[in-house]
Amino acid sequence: MSPSATDSESLDGRLLFAIPKKGRLHDKCLELLAGSDIQFRRSHRLDVALVKNLPIALVFLPASDIPSFVGKGNVNLGITGHDVILEANMENEVAEVLRLGFGKCALQVQVPESSPFKSAEDLAGKRVVTSFEVLAGKHFGEIDSRLQLTGDAATKIEYVGGSVEAACALGLADGIVDLVGKYKSGDTMRAAGLHAIATILETEAVLIKHTVEKNAAFEPLIQTITSRIAGVVAAGKYVVCEYNIPREKVHDATAITPGRRAPTISPLEDDKWVAVSAMVEKKNMATIMDNLVKIGAEDILIFNLDNCRV
Ligand code: AMP
Repeated sequence: MSPSATDSESLDGRLLFAIPKKGRLHDKCLELLAGSDIQFRRSHRLDVALVKNLPIALVFLPASDIPSFVGKGNVNLGITGHDVILEANMENEVAEVLRLGFGKCALQVQVPESSPFKSAEDLAGKRVVTSFEVLAGKHFGEIDSRLQLTGDAATKIEYVGGSVEAACALGLADGIVDLVGKYKSGDTMRAAGLHAIATILETEAVLIKHTVEKNAAFEPLIQTITSRIAGVVAAGKYVVCEYNIPREKVHDATAITPGRRAPTISPLEDDKWVAVSAMVEKKNMATIMDNLVKIGAEDILIFNLDNCRV
């Protein structure tokens, strides 16, 4: 019989890699694992899955538990939000190995649209409801001490596990501290009649490891996983841009598409022209093509990358 993820012996010698079991980061993590050729089959309802082609076991955990599992050395690697690490007070126990470019959002101080409070300082001393009591507590703690608000005059931070945005409408809070996604730019916040008056933190998903890995034998595998995941992240960030340009314009073209090290310039049968190939950031792609057209580039092609090591 093949080893199952429930046999404790089958975990022996395997690197443990914690993945958010649900929530906003889960699907993107599965895409990263697939892109990194980390193959596994997760049996129904089991939170541990053995990787078929590498000595790794994936452990599916709530994102909020991952920093302490990694920080205490119970698992070797993990993916979670930068905000989650700070909220768990684990920033000294875990090392952020790689930013992953997803899960981008901001932890913001929000008040009702009609509120008289225009800044976090205005809200100091009032009632603030949040799921981020550590980060909100630190932020308002600093403001309170600056404004010398102590005892009953200090800001009252109250924890709730969810539906934070309802707290003001329910009369529980004068303001809240909550995450606002970068791309849907505050749909939930606006639907609840709130607006942001301060940003405490910008965050994104990160790959983390224990500050000092106790088992040195795992280091090469940690490096392999990190390099594979970095390749998938970079492949999502860059495209390859290829075009033809009159030879006398090569200098201008190189300024527009400098590439990561330098663009590849190849001769064409027509020696008045050359072909240029360079990696460019996806987010700048349209402007770069506009600028290439302006200097006389032709046959501009953009290719997505499936994977890369850069
Ligand atoms: P969840 O498990 O869905 O509660 O969220 C876990 C982590 O996902 C949060 O701590 C953030 O790092 C990130 N996150 C939360 N909300 C958003 C959002 N609206 N957009 C992108 N990432 C988010």
